Amino acid sequence: PPFPISLSGAVRKGFGRGGKDLGCPTANLPDESLPPMSNVTQTGVYYGYAQVSPYNKEGQKVLSEDDTVVLPMVMSLGYNPFYKNQQLTAEIHIMHNFKSDFYGHEMRAIVLGYIRPELNYTSREGLIEDIETDKRVALKSLARPEYEKYKSDLHFSLLP
Ligand code: ADP
Ligand code: MG
Repeated sequence: PPFPISLSGAVRKGFGRGGKDLGCPTANLPDESLPPMSNVTQTGVYYGYAQVSPYNKEGQKVLSEDDTVVLPMVMSLGYNPFYKNQQLTAEIHIMHNFKSDFYGHEMRAIVLGYIRPELNYTSREGLIEDIETDKRVALKSLARPEYEKYKSDLHFSLLP
């Protein structure tokens, strides 16, 4: 089995489509951070844990303790149409209410499992409903005792 898969990189600005309007902002990982995912080219929705560094690009500590603990996440993996669908992209929605954006911050993630393939939506409501289902499935899956240990993984404790 390919999991766990560890990812890390500075959060990039995306195209701003969907995300916040759908109540589901997704932090983009840089392309260079994705080689670990190349064994699992299955596009779709994954779940796991993520952590955001309190420090911004300028090295100032701008996020508080409760925004920077290890948190549950869902990750969408897909091929970006902007790059003629040749470039794999990963966007992470962290299940936490952040007090501010964290563009440029280091983000680490451990991907632990697959939820579903990418689907095409005919309605905004359908998409929002599926995102809500994904979050429930992720939380339910992460509640398994075997996953507990990943919250204190070295990958996270080494985040600056
Ligand atoms: P973009 O297209 O730039 O990715 P989004 O609407 O998807 O725009 O918003 C993503 C940004 O929102 C992230 O880069 C991050 O700074 C911020 N953000 C705030 N709350 C969250 C959250 N719970 N999960 C992920 N990103 C969040
Ligand atoms: Mg996004």
